Amino acid sequence: MTPPRNSTAIRDVASVLHPYTDARAHQKNGPLVITRGEGVRVFDDQGKSYIETVAGLWCAALGFHNERLVQAATKQMRQLPFYHGFTGRTHEPQVDLAEMLLERAPVPMSKVFFANSGSEANDSAIKMIWYYNNAVGRPQKKKIISRLKGYHGVTIASASLTGLPYNHKFFDLPIAGILHTGTPHHYHNARPGESEEAFATRLAEELDAMIVAEGPETVAAFFAEPVMGAGGVIIPPATYFEKIQAVLKKHDVLLVADEVICGFGRTGEYWGSQSLGMRPDILTCAKALSSSYLPISAVMVNERVFEGLADGSAGLGTFGHGFTYSGHPVAAAVAVETLKIYDEIDIVGHVKRVAPTMQDGLRALAGHPLVGEVRGMGLIGAVELVADKATHANFDPALKIAPRLVKIAESHGLILRSLPNDSIAFSPPLVITEAEITDMVTRFGAALDELAVTLR
Ligand code: PLP
Repeated sequence: MTPPRNSTAIRDVASVLHPYTDARAHQKNGPLVITRGEGVRVFDDQGKSYIETVAGLWCAALGFHNERLVQAATKQMRQLPFYHGFTGRTHEPQVDLAEMLLERAPVPMSKVFFANSGSEANDSAIKMIWYYNNAVGRPQKKKIISRLKGYHGVTIASASLTGLPYNHKFFDLPIAGILHTGTPHHYHNARPGESEEAFATRLAEELDAMIVAEGPETVAAFFAEPVMGAGGVIIPPATYFEKIQAVLKKHDVLLVADEVICGFGRTGEYWGSQSLGMRPDILTCAKALSSSYLPISAVMVNERVFEGLADGSAGLGTFGHGFTYSGHPVAAAVAVETLKIYDEIDIVGHVKRVAPTMQDGLRALAGHPLVGEVRGMGLIGAVELVADKATHANFDPALKIAPRLVKIAESHGLILRSLPNDSIAFSPPLVITEAEITDMVTRFGAALDELAVTLR
């Protein structure tokens, strides 16, 4: 039990309701106060430095101090600090950003809608899908399927898509019309002896059966992260998306790729959709879009979806959806600069070069007595701790093994993020160097050893 250490900590406990925090425990333990950032590191109020192994929330891709992004924001603040896109107004930063996204899209896309967060992007995508199907005369085709352990946000509809218990319990979610199909995690969900391909076939058959049981004329869309992030960094089994997409095509169900974590190089290609062979009708992105220096998210829609939306809006007189801050000029200017930097430093090439150091370094821990599975691709990965390596059984959740490791790691100068099933996520700033990766993995190994000693 660490008592709050300074006045910021005391004032925090008295005033802030924290996202994703046990509010009662927080009253006892107090916060970790972060005061500044530099490269892949952040510093607390005692001056202690930490490698941010998850880039904050999988998002600060360019690290924690990039002067060009500061300059881009300042310049735009002076030029035009706010304007909106309602009733056909526009400004250059949002047009520049829309063009850049369309040029970089993994499949041909037609238009970009801007919002402020991943949750809002996914909520907007759901509303667009409903609107589209009304506009094209299919008012029954409204149900949406996502996956257990998928993460799509916390607003009412996006939290309903999210397939994690904490996001539903006590919130009276999910809402009606949102269904969850199986998690593509071979390590836990495959049958004994089942190959990745056979497991993928079974998951696709389950999806097919679900759509048929619901009635294909009632199922509108399927949402998927290319690599599931917050649900545990789950890399789908070989052939998964190929087989899933065949089912979607058969039943005329739209595919939405949630690229909020995977977009902009994380998986070793510009988009996770490219790494995993997805051909989405709609793509949502956020986080690394602006390296998270300002909140901004985007929904890209293909021509078919846009045409439906356009016809619907012509009939009704407007597309009645949009946020005050949709395409905010300062956030858009920062995102434009971010994408320019990615091009200049060849972010995808950099990730491809350094990723093996992280993936091999983490995989070298697979023999550790506490480690069950190490998984990942590009600069996203996870190390899962298990009580029984043979059966893959996790520890009793009451032991809070992963949160204990997170605490121990702080003393080794690492900020870690624990995920369901005692998995520890790795998603460092994309600009991380090989030397920094080696440092991160070494410190993590030392923290793991220290945890193992406490369990003897
Ligand atoms: N989708 C994915 C894949 C995410 O990982 C997240 C957040 O972590 C979201 C959506 C929600 O984004 P936000 O927290 O910006 O609402």
